[in-house]
Amino acid sequence: MEKVVIIGAGISGLAVAYRLKRLGIPSLVLEASSRPGGVIATTRRKGFLFETGPQFPRFPAPLWQLVRELNLDGEFVAGNSAANRYILRHGQLHPAPFSPMGVIKTRLVGISSKLRILADPFGYSQPPDHEESLAEFIRRKFGPEILDNLVDPFISTVFLGDASKMGMESAFPALVEWERRKGSLLRGALSARKAQRNPSAQVAAAPRPSVRAGTRVGTNGNGNKLHVTEALPALGSFKSGMAILPEHLADELGRAVRYNITVAAIAPSRPSDASAISNWQISLSDGTSISTEHVVLAVPAHVASIFLARSAPEIASLLGGIEYAPICVVSSAYNRSAVRNTLDGFGFLVPRSEGLQTICTFWNSSLFSGRAPEGNVVITTFAGREGSSGVVDQARDAFVRAVDVENSQVLGISGAPLDREVSEDPRALPQYNVGHALRVKKISATLRSLPNLHLAGNYLSGRSIGECVDVANRVAEDLHSQLEVPVI
Ligand SMILES: Cc1cc2nc3c(=O)[nH]c(=O)nc-3n(C[C@H](O)[C@H](O)[C@H](O)COP(=O)(O)OP(=O)(O)OC[C@H]3O[C@@H](n4cnc5c(N)ncnc54)[C@H](O)[C@@H]3O)c2cc1C
Repeated sequence: MEKVVIIGAGISGLAVAYRLKRLGIPSLVLEASSRPGGVIATTRRKGFLFETGPQFPRFPAPLWQLVRELNLDGEFVAGNSAANRYILRHGQLHPAPFSPMGVIKTRLVGISSKLRILADPFGYSQPPDHEESLAEFIRRKFGPEILDNLVDPFISTVFLGDASKMGMESAFPALVEWERRKGSLLRGALSARKAQRNPSAQVAAAPRPSVRAGTRVGTNGNGNKLHVTEALPALGSFKSGMAILPEHLADELGRAVRYNITVAAIAPSRPSDASAISNWQISLSDGTSISTEHVVLAVPAHVASIFLARSAPEIASLLGGIEYAPICVVSSAYNRSAVRNTLDGFGFLVPRSEGLQTICTFWNSSLFSGRAPEGNVVITTFAGREGSSGVVDQARDAFVRAVDVENSQVLGISGAPLDREVSEDPRALPQYNVGHALRVKKISATLRSLPNLHLAGNYLSGRSIGECVDVANRVAEDLHSQLEVPVI
């Protein structure tokens, strides 16, 4: 009988196990693949460094604390957050506007759209009484051109999201609250910032509801949750790539992490008829099973849904209904002389109206040194939007060739890449679509009837690595408080 079993050795599962270890609680981590990290994946080959997961995440406090504890701060490399980002429009790259002057100067939208952005602080509007999609919100506030040419490319890049499906309350609760409280995004943002500086002020009063650790949901009224702006400016990585973070975590945990072990299902089992508390029986795909007091599911929601389909169909159905976006990541190395573009900046983003497979192309070796040997470059493309013919239904080689053609046209690349790494995932990232916040609340409520079952992962209260670590810390602290021997 194990005390705590964690299923999944992505950043969420590893961070739960690591925090538990620091709190003095041993755990066992079961991982289906042969390596730690889940979607965080770095390949180092012949002097090139290819990232096929996160490229340059933000490092908010919970993540930075972990980096420091693992003594990885010497490995950290900060990217230039002011580096130019470009947006493709009619085949040409235009600087993305990040300031009022940038908005005035940009050729990505016309004068009437610019005036609508600049007029927001002087106007007054209220959100509707139902959850709007992001597309509805932007059209109502700023018009379709802003949606198509400025918002869509960022949403597609950061969240792999579709603005017509993303829910405002689910993905951007702070923006809804700013508009509700102040009638304008800018006035709301300034007021929330003021309240943050002065915590006794009433504006950010509503606390985030906490249901069970790891499933804290809904962030209405919380001015701290700035998914949009936080996702964009600050960025960093490690000299030897993002995978060093889960690799170090796994090293710290040693033999507590077991690879190539695929979980098939889990079910509660009562230790005795009189007992109100369940243990959990974990069935593995090889036919064996493991018993544990507590189980933490740190796998994607659709996998957790399969685990629970027979034993807890209600929560399984809620978990199974969370949509995921597909992605194909193509990371390619070229001789510098084969690329006409100067690659001066962060990379370029593509509005879906351009009709390309490419969502964005990052210029990795421009942001960080050590990504390619002298005289070479590495670029990485995210491609294959949800709903477009592509990542899911095209042959992989044909799809990658299409990406090559698009990059060649935009960046003036001649010839084939020197080396490359391709990864595809039909369900890469959960989507916080309309109704997601409500669904997560129901998941949390249903979880109360399943003692000793805990959820961690990126479908609960944020998709970033920092948010996954934050959720993981809360799961571990909750477990610690439950497992502590009561003082009599
Ligand atoms: C392409 C891409 C780019 C991203 N970019 C950024 C970024 O720039 N910044 C940022 O902060 N975040 C980014 N993210 C998001 C972030 O990386 C993820 O949300 C986070 O890493 C998810 O970690 P996780 O541990 O919750 O899930 P996962 O990484 O999915 O880990 C789940 C683990 O469970 C294992 N597993 C699955 N099924 C089973 C089973 N049956 N039995 C046992 N184990 C199983 C899997 O093998 C996997 O290791 C990006 C994500 C993607 C996909």
